[in-house]
Amino acid sequence: MQRLAPGATIGILGNGQLGRMLALAAARMGYRTHVFGPEADSPAEQVATDSTVAAYEDEAALGAFADAVDVVTFEFENVPAASAAYLASHTQVRPSWRALEVCQDRTREKQFFASIGAATPAWAAVNSLAELKTALAQVKPPAVLKTARLGYDGKGQAKIRAASDAEAAWQAITGGHAPKANGAFAILEGFVDFKCEISVIASRGQDGKIVCFEPSENVHANHMLATSTVPARVPPATASEAVSIATRAAEALDMVGLLAVEMFVTPDNRILCNEMAPRPHNSGHWTQDACGTDQFEQMVRAVAGLPLAAPMRHADVVMRNLVGADVNDLDRYLTDPAAHIHLYGKKEARAGRKMGHVNVVTSKKS
Ligand code: AMP
Repeated sequence: MQRLAPGATIGILGNGQLGRMLALAAARMGYRTHVFGPEADSPAEQVATDSTVAAYEDEAALGAFADAVDVVTFEFENVPAASAAYLASHTQVRPSWRALEVCQDRTREKQFFASIGAATPAWAAVNSLAELKTALAQVKPPAVLKTARLGYDGKGQAKIRAASDAEAAWQAITGGHAPKANGAFAILEGFVDFKCEISVIASRGQDGKIVCFEPSENVHANHMLATSTVPARVPPATASEAVSIATRAAEALDMVGLLAVEMFVTPDNRILCNEMAPRPHNSGHWTQDACGTDQFEQMVRAVAGLPLAAPMRHADVVMRNLVGADVNDLDRYLTDPAAHIHLYGKKEARAGRKMGHVNVVTSKKS
């Protein structure tokens, strides 16, 4: 295990709010940070020690970045393969490209879940309208058609209520262009009539030790996370199974860092895995004000080669995202002593843009 000394520099690819909170946690642990991303005055750049504003494909900029840092990690997973490979040949990268690669593609992700014995909704890979029609005979409507890559917050998704929706759904996710994809372009997924959605954030250190936060119960609005509540209202056996799945996934990916696993819980308390992210996750923000060590510090510890801490939750908590104009309603939280406000430094409160979040804590009941 290679341990970074205080004053060492953690490089972070991506410069959004996750990078910002990661940089703040790194600073608290005595590290410098250098963030890399395409936008100037980004949420992460505002708080990091250093910043490079460049395209992810810019090899000269990546090379200078690699020379300036002691380790590279990511705040998002959609890094081009060539850039990740380039960085890995110049410096230490945690987590490895393999972990990112599996999480970049819904087909590989679903196959991975099967390989660790975790159930998923019924699904089929789809590369054309004809294949979509065939798949609908197997994965029956209602179903969701999702692009295999680069979808987030419900983007690149179309609901199929009946087989007659196939053309419109295909048009919606392809924009009418014949897809060019490396592997399957899309997956058709059975719609799950879930009781609730939960997620588990696992962290894995360089020594292979895995520590998981308990599941949060997540509510989405307009395809975007709205709230996370802890404890989740699921039976203890379901919570244990969720933690076991996240642990198996982090182990099988040989993860160093964080792995968030999102899952559906069916009315009979079975877990169906939805997707994973190899980075801090919006549904883990509750840990900032309800745990001794939060997800960001845990990630810093993992990439810096420090031992991980037990989460030690000390409060019940509801995390609420401030999306778009929600941020104008701050006064109700500013006057609530139980509310912990986290803003991301974004100037324009555009509709659908995550501007910040609030953790409202109450005394721990269970
Ligand atoms: P995703 O980008 O795949 O995480 O989807 C965003 C959200 O859409 C999920 O958190 C669910 O609320 C909903 N959703 C996605 N896939 C399904 C599905 N197969 N069945 C029911 N709801 C879904």
